[in-house]
Amino acid sequence: MLQIYNTLTRQKEYFRPIHEGHAGMYVCGPTVYGDAHLGHARPAITFDLLYRYLLHLGYKVRYVRNITDVGHLEHDADEGEDKIAKKARLEQLEPMEVVQYYTNRYHRDMEALNVLPPSIEPHASGHIIEQIAFVQKILDKGYAYVSDGSVYMDVEKYAKDYPYGKLSGRNLEDIVTDTRELDGQSEKKHSYDFALWKKAAPEHIMHWPSPWSEGFPGWHMECSTMGTKYLGEEFDIHGGGMDLMFPHHEAEIAQSCAALGHESVHYWMHNNMITIAGKKMGKSYNNFITLEQFFKGEHELLSKPFAPMTIRFFILMAHYRSTVDFSSEALEAAEKGYARLQEAYNRLQKLQAGAETSVEVSGLREKCAEAMDDDLNSPIVLQHLFDSARAINTVYDGKGSISAADLDELRKVWKDYAVDILGLRLEEQGAGDENRKAFDGAVDLLLDIRLDAKRNKDWGTSDRIRNALTELGFKIKDTKEGYEWSL
Ligand code: ZN
Repeated sequence: MLQIYNTLTRQKEYFRPIHEGHAGMYVCGPTVYGDAHLGHARPAITFDLLYRYLLHLGYKVRYVRNITDVGHLEHDADEGEDKIAKKARLEQLEPMEVVQYYTNRYHRDMEALNVLPPSIEPHASGHIIEQIAFVQKILDKGYAYVSDGSVYMDVEKYAKDYPYGKLSGRNLEDIVTDTRELDGQSEKKHSYDFALWKKAAPEHIMHWPSPWSEGFPGWHMECSTMGTKYLGEEFDIHGGGMDLMFPHHEAEIAQSCAALGHESVHYWMHNNMITIAGKKMGKSYNNFITLEQFFKGEHELLSKPFAPMTIRFFILMAHYRSTVDFSSEALEAAEKGYARLQEAYNRLQKLQAGAETSVEVSGLREKCAEAMDDDLNSPIVLQHLFDSARAINTVYDGKGSISAADLDELRKVWKDYAVDILGLRLEEQGAGDENRKAFDGAVDLLLDIRLDAKRNKDWGTSDRIRNALTELGFKIKDTKEGYEWSL
């Protein structure tokens, strides 16, 4: 049975959905004002893994991942320019052009990483009416106040009735010391109050009418509103990166409790961060590498381009709650590991069944399930797959055998766990793709000609083919049967 770590209770809990057979999950998506970087790949892949596993377990899953296209200000604490509006101003574009442009590019990057699209992908700007209604509910319950056209959460009042800070493990005093004291001009009662609705300054280009002012919703508002709109007042899982725990998710809890009188989320899940040479990733550190730069190898910290599946494999090699430190060397090691997995998968498809099984393959499915059930332990699943790769290689090299029934089951486990659950595109190396077939056929033909040349002692032709292919990046291995090649 699936157990997941609940950030709220700080322990692993059995997943018991609200509606039997159904699972509702909400994950904070990107703010679309720039290209997705490695830091975006981790939550996307982590919750894709969860989504895929819930589907594998037979749940009907409604997966909501939002697009933040309004209200996320430059400084998370209700200050600075809207990130989208700023980009639009600098590039002289309509804000929605910025949103569409980066949303398309985000989708393209997610497709490359084999991240499945969510069931619903709502935009904050498409849910202004619902957000206004949600703010009104909080005002009606007395946990918010209007100040000069803006609406703020009254955190002090809220904290008297509900524990504020319980998700991130902070108490109000910590928050007071952590929050920068505002100058006397502030319209907030306390520095830790957060905006539910902001009155737009005259130069602000994204604004909507509301009962309080022409303005826009506070950043935290969209997730409370869209989560409950599409998944119900109470739903199963809310996910996101650890960096969102405070203030974003803490504020979401407060908004739900204030408006509805109870919490909305049963299981809070957070993935850990990716660091680069031990440092947080950020535009100011010059270690901010977009996914496109990874795929093309266009960054000074990268030794070469890295395929999307190498990035996916690299992220899955660590448990989602542990930190991952990126370096070009670490990615090169992941690339080699992935190539070994790919080779084992290709060989598995070619294996011939024997009369009996002499290699160790029993219990693989159970072991993989046990690892996934243990809070999505993908590195252990990979370890089990690598163990079985050894058995595959033994049979492939003629040093062992596998029965028809065991071979069939082994192929099914690899399909279920490596391809469907871990989401590794191992199958695309196989037949089915016409281009790939033609390409493979042409390389085989060249190597057949080389084999003939060798038999005829025509070393000139043989070397010429080998050298030319090697130059193009092919690896050619001479074997008893003839040859093996890979790119
Ligand atoms: Zn969110």
